[in-house]
Amino acid sequence: MSLEERASVCTFDCPDTCSITVTIDDGRVTKVRGSHALPFTAGVICTKVARDMEAFVHGPQRLLYPLRRSGPKGSAQFERISWQAALDEIHDRVGEVIGRWGPQAVLPLNYAGPHGLLAGDSMSLRFFHRLGASQLYRRALCGGVRSEAWAGTYGAVPGCPPDFTEHANLNVVWGNNATVSNVHLVRGIRRAKRRGGKLAVIDPLRTKIAEQADLHLQILPGTDTPLAWSVAAELERAGKFDNEFIAANVLGLDEFMARAREWPVARAASVCGVPEDQIRVLAEWIAEADPLVMAPGNGLERGRHGGGAIRAIVALPALLGKLGRGHGIVLGASNAFPKTLAKLQRPDLAPAGTRTLNILDIGRHLAEDDLDPPLRAVFIYNHNPIVVHPDQNRMRRGLAREDVFTVGIDVAMTESLAHCDVVLPAATHFEYADLYSSYGHHWLQRAEPVIAPLGGSLPNTEIFRRLAARFGFDEPCFRASDAELMDDAVDPEDARLGGVRPSRIPVDRAVQMRSADSKPLVLFENVFPATPSGKIELKSEALATRWGSQALLPEWRERDADYPLRLISPASDKRISSTLGGLPGSRRAPPLLMHPEDAARRRLAPGNEVKVWNERGEVILPLKLTDAVPPGVVASEKGAWLATSRTGQTISALVSADMRADVAEGACFNDTRVEVAAV
Ligand code: SF4
Repeated sequence: MSLEERASVCTFDCPDTCSITVTIDDGRVTKVRGSHALPFTAGVICTKVARDMEAFVHGPQRLLYPLRRSGPKGSAQFERISWQAALDEIHDRVGEVIGRWGPQAVLPLNYAGPHGLLAGDSMSLRFFHRLGASQLYRRALCGGVRSEAWAGTYGAVPGCPPDFTEHANLNVVWGNNATVSNVHLVRGIRRAKRRGGKLAVIDPLRTKIAEQADLHLQILPGTDTPLAWSVAAELERAGKFDNEFIAANVLGLDEFMARAREWPVARAASVCGVPEDQIRVLAEWIAEADPLVMAPGNGLERGRHGGGAIRAIVALPALLGKLGRGHGIVLGASNAFPKTLAKLQRPDLAPAGTRTLNILDIGRHLAEDDLDPPLRAVFIYNHNPIVVHPDQNRMRRGLAREDVFTVGIDVAMTESLAHCDVVLPAATHFEYADLYSSYGHHWLQRAEPVIAPLGGSLPNTEIFRRLAARFGFDEPCFRASDAELMDDAVDPEDARLGGVRPSRIPVDRAVQMRSADSKPLVLFENVFPATPSGKIELKSEALATRWGSQALLPEWRERDADYPLRLISPASDKRISSTLGGLPGSRRAPPLLMHPEDAARRRLAPGNEVKVWNERGEVILPLKLTDAVPPGVVASEKGAWLATSRTGQTISALVSADMRADVAEGACFNDTRVEVAAV
């Protein structure tokens, strides 16, 4: 027996990107705990990763060999085949599609299962670009609205490091279920509270972080913009604006405030569903805070007004000149890294004029066959579209088409992969080398494999190298090693790397991205707005040009309701979106949280199974009565697999794929209306 400990990094779609220590027992991952290679995560990881990694790597759901479908799509009936047979079949079937419809009939359908720069998209996109496949606009599914709203206001720059929370006199956590999906932010907030700092949380759900708050505004979903405007108007009324800072650094104040002034406290309170006093207290605390740190989360972006909401919220510190000197906004971390994605992914290999499809439209394109050329070959990798896409039933109908050849690449047999014709087994992040930036902090990390790939599984980079070779792509870029890909992913010459090549970053020591004066990157200390005007743009011509005239300023309108209840879908503490959803800890349907008043009106009792429905679908969930949600709002965790549901549908089935946020054409998961009844 040999017992070893090796350094690695957690790859899951989570802002924390923790450094980890993996215990290997005779080639088996038996334990994972936090390490100190990354000072920010400092030896702490979340429970799900500490508990589930042995099952994730070695459990019965793990894919170990290439498979060919032997039953109907979705039946998960497969036969084992060799790698050569799999590559030949993919080459021949995709070749037939290209011969008949051209290369744009092929589509990569991927998202962000693993977050390493190599496994995420490196050799894979080189392959699809060279093939001439349709391109995918992925950020609409998540993150795009937030990035665009931030970049439209401040430019593609980092805000402040997340550890600014530790020294804040007031932390404002807005639409951020941080205890579940941003663990280390919470550690900083707790430290600040121990020092006497305050915590304000704005969230429709009384999350764990909200339970610890000094002030919780339990607003109705999607009403963040009126609330932020109202706070802005209160700050102005109280004479708290930093006029000198605004004159030097802010563009569009008059137009922004003209909208904000339309939301006096009483009006905002009635629309947001919170007491007037709470809005006044929030404004007072924000005005007094020194330092003030704001941490807006992903929950905000998932509605029609998501972009405007984020813009209105991140405007507040600018109105007070509270940026730098300990003040900050925890956003934009991905902009801290000198990534060179064009070098890594080689979009120059794609033929000019290749079309780009919004990921939210793929279910429709497949189910309704509304494209010319149509989609006839799809590669699903790093993604579980049936579980995570809005309008689940439409996506499922699309993937059930027998005339669409589908290749699936994953570590586990998901319900999406069960619809594939050929399945290729991917290695887990414990089995390959990768380079890790983060969207939650400013540290770059590298990992080596800690065990060899299990069975016949292969790293994504090697799978696409082999596919490229089988398709006869003989350019040198298709033979690049993983180390060469790392050096293509991040600029080795950039001063932020301090002279260390990306492929040589020590696996036991993360590298912090720093400014020329060797200090952490902080907006308004050593980083400044990178908008077209060089100022903080509360009014953005750039956003209006990209997303339409409605995006010039934040805007908000009441919506006609077709069903009485608003459904939100927060993150689970058992999964990362749908990842780990096939493990034993996720086998049960998550409950539907409902306020007792709503339940009484429908004669529902706790523990009942209830039907949650709208015109798109119907889900059966156990009912939990709680005032953790306000009246009129129901909540259920996202990412549960279809197998947890008696109807074979999960809450993604209730979400519109056609409704879009005001910028970035983003998905509107938290802008869903439903009705609930006893089963
Ligand atoms: S899921 Fe997030 S918090 Fe958990 S170990 Fe991975 S990076 Fe850390």
